[in-house]
Amino acid sequence: MHIVTTVADFRGALDGLRAQGRTVGLVPTMGALHDGHVSLMEASAADGCATAATVFVNPLQFAPTEDLSAYPRPFEADAAAAEAAGVQVLFHPSVEEMYPGEVLTTVHVGTITADLEGASRPTHFDGVATVVAKLFSMAGPCRAYFGEKDWQQLQVVTRMAADLSMPVEVVGCPIVRDHDGLALSSRNVYLSPDQREAAPVIQTALKAGLASIRAGERDRQVVEALIADVIEAEPLAALDYAVVRRADTLEVVDPLAGDLRLLAVARFGTTRLLDNVGVHLDPT
Ligand code: AMP
Repeated sequence: MHIVTTVADFRGALDGLRAQGRTVGLVPTMGALHDGHVSLMEASAADGCATAATVFVNPLQFAPTEDLSAYPRPFEADAAAAEAAGVQVLFHPSVEEMYPGEVLTTVHVGTITADLEGASRPTHFDGVATVVAKLFSMAGPCRAYFGEKDWQQLQVVTRMAADLSMPVEVVGCPIVRDHDGLALSSRNVYLSPDQREAAPVIQTALKAGLASIRAGERDRQVVEALIADVIEAEPLAALDYAVVRRADTLEVVDPLAGDLRLLAVARFGTTRLLDNVGVHLDPT
């Protein structure tokens, strides 16, 4: 595995792979790698791609009040995990390398970013879209693997690549969970033992919502209230939102129909955890 820290070396390494006839599989991450990240690298390899991963904690997507400086950065362990997952090129740039001067150009994806994570974190998606656009521009033609764990982010990146005619095929990959259903996240390390024990309630709540839809419930607000009630019954959880939306555009659908996503976010102390599940309703 080659570890590169400059844009020129990253570009050169991926051009070299393409010159050998390989398709590049790009896996952008902020590091603190866990099995969720590894699953994206494995998906790239399973598709026959030469895998390039990036580890960069992007300051542009953190608000001043958020955990930028505290965000875990175990780079040696990350490099070992990436190598074990078959990554061929690991890009680990400094902030100065990614943002050498004042950033005057940012990418804003409309409507999809307006609420949910966009409402809780108003500058977040411009930061995500901008850094991913930069990584796509540096990487060149590729397949790019993103997790469904950050469902709204996956829709934002997919839409950005399409709207801007980027030579990138965005591939969504299923959520990897711990044995008790908690979605793996680099932020899970912040949880106290009690909070960790309580955290799977988000998944339990989403499953209850899913079961009610499968049993025939089509009233969006009834399903959303059901998910919220399960989370609010857990004393250590503070509900942020529980919604059912159209899966790709995240629009409100009433009554429930088509491709849907149930999304919930709750705080455990200062740690904010996201989860979601999907369901498809055939027209009746
Ligand atoms: P992050 O390092 O948190 O920015 O995540 C990097 C990529 O890994 C994103 O595409 C995430 O959606 C994805 N990811 C994070 N956690 C998981 C998980 N538990 N299962 C699948 N993908 C994940």
